Amino acid sequence: MNRWLFAGNQGVDPWLPYLASGDAFTKQHGDVVGRIVSKTELGAPCSEESVVYLSDLSPKDKKWDHHRANTMVIGQHYDADVRFRKLGDRMAGCTTWLGFSELVNQESGDIALRLRQANFCGVRHCPTCAWRRTLRNTARFFAALPFLQEQFPKHRWLFLTLTVKNCDPENLRETIKAMNAGWQRLVQRKNWPGEGWLKSVEVTRGQDGSAHPHFHVMVMVKPSYFSHGYIKQEEWAERWKSVMRLDYMPVVDVRAVKPKKEGQTIEAAVVETLKYATKVQDSLKSPEWLYIVTEQLHKMRFVESGGVLKGVLKEQFTDEELICDESVNSENDIEKGGENILRVIWNGSSKRYVRSTKANPLSS
Ligand SMILES: [Zn+2]
Repeated sequence: MNRWLFAGNQGVDPWLPYLASGDAFTKQHGDVVGRIVSKTELGAPCSEESVVYLSDLSPKDKKWDHHRANTMVIGQHYDADVRFRKLGDRMAGCTTWLGFSELVNQESGDIALRLRQANFCGVRHCPTCAWRRTLRNTARFFAALPFLQEQFPKHRWLFLTLTVKNCDPENLRETIKAMNAGWQRLVQRKNWPGEGWLKSVEVTRGQDGSAHPHFHVMVMVKPSYFSHGYIKQEEWAERWKSVMRLDYMPVVDVRAVKPKKEGQTIEAAVVETLKYATKVQDSLKSPEWLYIVTEQLHKMRFVESGGVLKGVLKEQFTDEELICDESVNSENDIEKGGENILRVIWNGSSKRYVRSTKANPLSS
């Protein structure tokens, strides 16, 4: 078998053949108790044929491999700088294992997996945790939607993008604070047409390395908005310029979300609004960019909701909330309980989740 050396904690564990150098060794609650620094071959390695991948068992869960591989790279970026090493440690311990129950569809006999257990790191810029937070907020919005449609059956939605000129990444925090203050002035104006709104901040990286902070906002308006008090794009830009006290005309985009019968457009607007605050690709490509946005966005709110939508979105979730997966819930599905939990563990070298044969990866 393979024997591994740990930084801070030496030992041998049946899990270790699945782990790669640099992976954290975690125990209960995801605390990192050691880090694998090298391995010494003491015998035959675990044979390829005995490895079963999560993505083969459940193709829809292939996305776990994708997000967790990104978490590994971002974690390594954090590891490379002493200021962020703690975040790297936490991310190394993120979703190192997952537990799924089986859902059996009574009609078709198809089996789908439903996430039941996972250990999340909760780091702001962890791609896996950010993905789960977005799923949760999207689910929260769609859970609130039938109620909104009952209360406000004729209301319509606008999708606004509010921008300012690109700024030096060092001034990102200041710039977003000014945008938040501008936003508050905008919604407090008498002529503000929104009954409720969802807002998110997104920061992308310009080709010249500058930061491009902007807001995506969904605004719920009265049906009469389109006949009385309609605001043209130029006027939206003028208002944003005024509340932001700018000396130039900012780029503002506004479009009406199509009524639901015309397609999935409200979903498209929600997805656009609730996507991640920073592009994973920007951070994967440039550790320097990751460091600066981590510092500048520290403890800033990424999503906010107001008016009749106040409280719909959340910034922080518990592990249980991040685990919750409604996407596979159907009346025909019967969940197999207890004994049938399928456990997979993250394998850093193949960048895939592999099935574990051990009953509980947390028991020592
Ligand atoms: Zn995480």
